[in-house]
Amino acid sequence: MTSFPDRYTFHSGSPQRSGSGSNTFQSIDPSTAQPTCTIHASSPQDIDAAISSAAAAFPSWSSTPPIERSRVLLRAVALLRARNDELARVETLDTGKPFSETSTVDVVTGADVLEYYANLIASGGLNGESFRLRDSAWVYTAKEALGVCAGIGAWNYPIQIALWKSAPCLAAGNAMVYKPSEVTPLHAQFLAEIYREAGLPDGVFNVVYGAGDVGAYLTKHEIVQKVSFTGQVSTGKKVAGSAAGEMKYVTMELGGKSPVIVLDDCKVENAVDGAMMANFFSTGQVCTNGTRVFVPRSMKASFEKTLLKKMEYIRVGDLAGENTNFGPLVSKAHYEKVKSYVQHGIDKDKATLIKGGVGKPANLPSQYANGYWLEPTVFTDCKDNMKIVQEEIFGPVMTILYYDTVDEAVKRANKTELGLAAGVFGKDISKCHDVIRRLQAGITWVNTWGESPAEMSVGGWKLSGVGVENGRKGLENWVQNKSTLVEMGGEVPTVFAKLEKESKL
Ligand code: NAD
Repeated sequence: MTSFPDRYTFHSGSPQRSGSGSNTFQSIDPSTAQPTCTIHASSPQDIDAAISSAAAAFPSWSSTPPIERSRVLLRAVALLRARNDELARVETLDTGKPFSETSTVDVVTGADVLEYYANLIASGGLNGESFRLRDSAWVYTAKEALGVCAGIGAWNYPIQIALWKSAPCLAAGNAMVYKPSEVTPLHAQFLAEIYREAGLPDGVFNVVYGAGDVGAYLTKHEIVQKVSFTGQVSTGKKVAGSAAGEMKYVTMELGGKSPVIVLDDCKVENAVDGAMMANFFSTGQVCTNGTRVFVPRSMKASFEKTLLKKMEYIRVGDLAGENTNFGPLVSKAHYEKVKSYVQHGIDKDKATLIKGGVGKPANLPSQYANGYWLEPTVFTDCKDNMKIVQEEIFGPVMTILYYDTVDEAVKRANKTELGLAAGVFGKDISKCHDVIRRLQAGITWVNTWGESPAEMSVGGWKLSGVGVENGRKGLENWVQNKSTLVEMGGEVPTVFAKLEKESKL
């Protein structure tokens, strides 16, 4: 059993053992249900201290030239890459995701975003604009850092989320207080230490620990200027409501129930590969999962046959093994939640179960007998009004819906309050584009699923979010504009000059 030293609120450049709150909780390895680390939840005093440490560091960091900030961040990128496997093992332990995934996706895509923003600010990404208003006057607009910002993370991509938030935040000259999910907190201290080793001044990146109460305290704190949140829609509503009441900036990266539309000219193999990536990668715990798979009715037999065949390639096994591609659910609570959705699908929705169910996967190694493992599951012939079709399950549960016309599929795909992602698979690229044009979602794919490179701005429509992460637009979410009009005519324009008749008095 792997275990780590206790975790304490990290601020002013180090973990603060003394003064840290006395409430503790455990980080659990979901593959075995064994605890791996004791975390000391941050008390209000700890959070105040972390925010003060960020506020103290902000003036100097924000006035450090972007090129110098960039050098620090690039050193952190090099450290992240050098320690990729060590960090990936931590993520595997905390999330239960196979090492084959955490070592190729989680740390890599986080480091990529940090590198992207470091390079962007070093090459004019924070430049403002200026223009001549008239011969005697100029306007210039500068992009100014916001101040102390809060990052609140979900548990599914812990270090990636921490980097997707802290990279543009710090690049723009802000300081951050970051709260990882209480379910997967291990990465946070490693990241804080890497930033420090890279030369980030003390106080620019701080970590607080705990559950919703810690997040809520951060969100309301008067010094915090912005909250960047990743999590469920229901929590996001609370966080956005509370932040908006204090006129704070927000970025909200929330849940989805995304549609995959398979067109009738699509090779069935491709359609199935896409649908599987959209449902079983990360054991289905991906916000952009395409869990509503719309398939032409004419393709039913071949799609299901190919899907069942390819599901044999979902490999449960030693999470450190290079061929293992499926892990447990992240926590007991989440396991119970996903299982209850599957049970509901069978008992109440009466959807047709063609694979999986509420049991543990076959061939589960004996060391994982107590972990939170659930079979990959497929329901077919689903109807739009079923609960398993309408609500985000966030587990390895695919629902297949058959359609007769593309117009009908698009209409049904859009019939949701959520709008995170969507995708289409087909041969005729014009048809694919036309479907994408009509789908209501912020992140869309054609003939692929899930890739989210640093250069691509991503964010949800409708209840799935506010603002974007990554890409050039992602940086704009961490600055505020300051526009200045400079009059150079030599006289100050005024309406209070003496009138001629007043001069004669
Ligand atoms: P969650 O909403 O339960 O928790 C997210 C974070 O919010 C945690 O750190 C939690 O402690 C904190 N929190 C809880 N109550 C709070 C409050 N009142 N004020 C402030 N913070 C509070 O979400 P989760 O279960 O950890 O994550 C899964 C969800 O995240 C899914 O819905 C998934 O779709 C979504 N997600 C979205 C994206 C995206 O980019 N759109 C990415 C990953 C995950």
